[in-house]
Amino acid sequence: MASTVTTRFDLVVNICHLYPDLMDTYGDKGNIITLVKRCQWHRIKTTVSHVSVGDKLDPEKYDIYFFGGGQDRQQVIVSHDLQSKAKNLKAVIERGSTLLSICGGYQLLQNYFKTLDGTEIRGIGLFDAHTLGSTTRMIQNLHIKLNDEVSHQVKSVYRTTELSIYPTDLIGFENHSGKTYLGKSLKPLGKVIRGAGNNGEDKTEGAIYKNAFGCYLHGSLLPKNPHFADYLISKALQRRYGKIKLKPLDDSIEWQAHKSAIERTKR
Ligand code: GLN
Repeated sequence: MASTVTTRFDLVVNICHLYPDLMDTYGDKGNIITLVKRCQWHRIKTTVSHVSVGDKLDPEKYDIYFFGGGQDRQQVIVSHDLQSKAKNLKAVIERGSTLLSICGGYQLLQNYFKTLDGTEIRGIGLFDAHTLGSTTRMIQNLHIKLNDEVSHQVKSVYRTTELSIYPTDLIGFENHSGKTYLGKSLKPLGKVIRGAGNNGEDKTEGAIYKNAFGCYLHGSLLPKNPHFADYLISKALQRRYGKIKLKPLDDSIEWQAHKSAIERTKR
């Protein structure tokens, strides 16, 4: 999957795909493909490294971490291994690295996930939150409004030839039975417009800690949310090189996909 293009500016984004062999459901890998492809269009080099059970996590190497979803069984295996990587992973997030986690990955970055049969799957406490297994399966397209701070930042970095109005939402597909509850000081990624989100009760969806994002948006998320993809790329570039302006891309197809997925939530 590693991909390299020559660029005028010689910028590079190093992507770390965490546990791709165990944690990759409902098209999560599409997020990696999107990051690589959009970087190519922006003439930025990328490398993609797979880090899984037993592999060392080199804390200096990566700009963006991606951690996808998985079933409870895989989460138990990954939870054990993740403890040995916890210190390095938490340290890089403290230093400003970017991370996107989805569903099962998001749950493992919390304090714990207690499944319906009472098993407690240990997280690493990057997000002050926990998840409880439930009898309800939350399965549908999930449409959220981004929190104001993120919306504002997205607006300042995302440029397209397609839109004059900047999008302040995300659309994805959720499929989980775990209900996530955020600690008091943890900010949600957004507010649910349609779907369940974190728990189907308090209208919150996802979490943000520094440049680490957690959410329930599979499906894949980034191909139909190009503004969020460029936002993550911008954050990664900023840490290494300072503020870099991305060139506008023709995202007409991406916005068609975005709109048609939103339409489906209304049926
Ligand atoms: N096992 C978790 C749940 O059902 C996560 C599922 C997933 O990643 N899709 O809540």
